[in-house]
Amino acid sequence: MQNLPGDHETEANCDDFADASAILTIDLQALAHNYRFLKEKSGKAECAAVVKADAYGLGLEECTRALLDEGCKTFFVANLDEARRLRGVTLDADVYVMGGLYPGTAKQFTQINAIPVLNTVGDVSEWATHSQDHCSGDAPAAIQVDSGMNRLGMKKDAVAELLDEGVFGRFQLKLVMSHLACADEPEHPLNRQQLDAFSSIRNLFPDTPASLCNSAGIFLGGDFHFDITRPGIALYGGRARNNVANPMKQVVTLEGRIAQVQIVPEGEIVGYGAAQTMTRDTSVATISLGYADGFFRYLGSTDDLQKTNVFVAGSPAPLIGRVSMDLITADVTDIKDVQRGQLVEVLGEHVTVDDLADQAGTIGYEILTSLGNRYRRIYK
Ligand SMILES: *Cc1c(COP(=O)(O)O)cnc(C)c1O
Repeated sequence: MQNLPGDHETEANCDDFADASAILTIDLQALAHNYRFLKEKSGKAECAAVVKADAYGLGLEECTRALLDEGCKTFFVANLDEARRLRGVTLDADVYVMGGLYPGTAKQFTQINAIPVLNTVGDVSEWATHSQDHCSGDAPAAIQVDSGMNRLGMKKDAVAELLDEGVFGRFQLKLVMSHLACADEPEHPLNRQQLDAFSSIRNLFPDTPASLCNSAGIFLGGDFHFDITRPGIALYGGRARNNVANPMKQVVTLEGRIAQVQIVPEGEIVGYGAAQTMTRDTSVATISLGYADGFFRYLGSTDDLQKTNVFVAGSPAPLIGRVSMDLITADVTDIKDVQRGQLVEVLGEHVTVDDLADQAGTIGYEILTSLGNRYRRIYK
């Protein structure tokens, strides 16, 4: 690219990332802090970590390393591909695969020493056979029981029947677990009901460790903790419970770079579909990040509806018009000295993951797991 005389004087950033259109910064110290916080909150229970979906979009390898440094020894993922990636980082930690045992895949678990969470009677029989045929009856597994969510796991009578048949003696039963449907609403009666249902199943296995809590469950108190807690979202700074202040440290900062600043005269439009008409002469910054980066198109503005602010040098700049694949546009008329090349905060100090989620009509989990993979990533 040609350098025009005087061009560099308008460059706001001369750092190593000057060529990056958007920068995702992941604060591993904040992650470590959040782990310590949740471990403390888990009381006597061991605090594991859920690193499924690329550690909620933040990088499975990097997050796992940071958690290992904090002494985390047990990890939960959704599928075997994720377990394989985790094994690239550690051979020692326990790795549970929550999605279960798909038919014919038992050997692949044993190959990488991953522990399946057996969700059905079919899963259990298949694992028991595999364990006896190939692992001297000692292949490790968890079972998931359904305490009322009706999503994944066995009902109590199915578990009791398997127990009668002696099936659990044919492999190494390491953990009995279940999942809460409404832990983010502490007052929801289902929490207590699920606790009672889980306790009654768990009591069939008095010597086996048990696990019930996701992030929000940890805050429901000691009765819910059992032996291992399984936080995900709270590790990554997300809000675990509704309607209370979020005690977690924000882990993610997302910045987009201003590609152009221009004055759009009153009466003219900005962006696709001419969705928004300027009601004054407007200074418009075009920022290099769009729906291909996980910035939901739903967050765009129209003449009738303005949902979202980005922050330019700490000041709010309302979005204008639609979100494009690679670009968004914001009103910077009231902000001084806005420069092309400058970085704009999309997530960070002023906009938390949950703020953006609220504006997009979704939850922090979806914002994080939708983060695109073409950001320049910085781990600090
Ligand atoms: C995703 C998941 C978790 C973690 O939940 P968070 O709400 O993110 O803390 C725990 N247990 C199971 C079974 C899960 O699917």
